Amino acid sequence: MGVRSAVQSLETTDESAAGPIVTARNLYRFFRADDEETLALQGISLELRAGELVAVTGPSGSGKSTLLACLAGIDDPSGGMVWVAGNRISHVPEVVRAPLRARHIGLLFQSGNLFPHLSVTDNVRLSRSLVRGRDRADDRDVLESADIRHRAASYPHQLSGGEAARAGLAVALANHPEVLLADEPTGELDGESERRLLELLRQHAASGGAVVVASHSPAVRRIADRVLRLEDGRDVS
Ligand code: ADP
Ligand code: MG
Repeated sequence: MGVRSAVQSLETTDESAAGPIVTARNLYRFFRADDEETLALQGISLELRAGELVAVTGPSGSGKSTLLACLAGIDDPSGGMVWVAGNRISHVPEVVRAPLRARHIGLLFQSGNLFPHLSVTDNVRLSRSLVRGRDRADDRDVLESADIRHRAASYPHQLSGGEAARAGLAVALANHPEVLLADEPTGELDGESERRLLELLRQHAASGGAVVVASHSPAVRRIADRVLRLEDGRDVS
């Protein structure tokens, strides 16, 4: 199938997809550098449904970020497959992945979700402009749902750590993604800021969003519906 027909077919299939919003089947990821081979993921499977919040836990180096990158189609597994909203996002060209990611997936990282020279509102608008045909009228709703509307006109350097994290959440939610993938989103936050951010993630799931949070924070485990625990790339949950 050519790229053009691949893009057309995803436009016709993705709205009608039923069942899990994310399916990962038997993921393997090997990294090789000289004589050193790392098995970052060893046979990980996951199904994620609307309204669920899944925590991915495990020690540093256990494969959490690698798993999230494969779910987002930022990285490709060495083996296994990933589907998002009924569309395969693994082992397809970037021209197919990018619109899937933009339409269905919100990404939240510990830092780096914000462009420093844009206000919070303009960061949200920039993210939204990546998806054609999205209604621009509800910037305020997105800012509200991330509890950062009062700082809409501020620039990233003017925000506290907790506010920057919530502004990053607003950017991640800008296109109302069905799936939110958060990698150590509370890693740099104090206890109260962490509690507020996790409450927002919980609310997002309660309103029908699907959320995956990679973290070694016990607070994340406590708010999760399910925990996927990784050790050396294996599912030991
Ligand atoms: P975590 O997020 O749980 O800390 P990662 O997914 O970042 O773990 O890493 C899992 C393993 O894969 C680690 O051993 C890490 O060193 C290795 N790894 C991750 N990315 C790469 C890469 N691009 N090249 C080589 N090794 C990598
Ligand atoms: Mg990581």
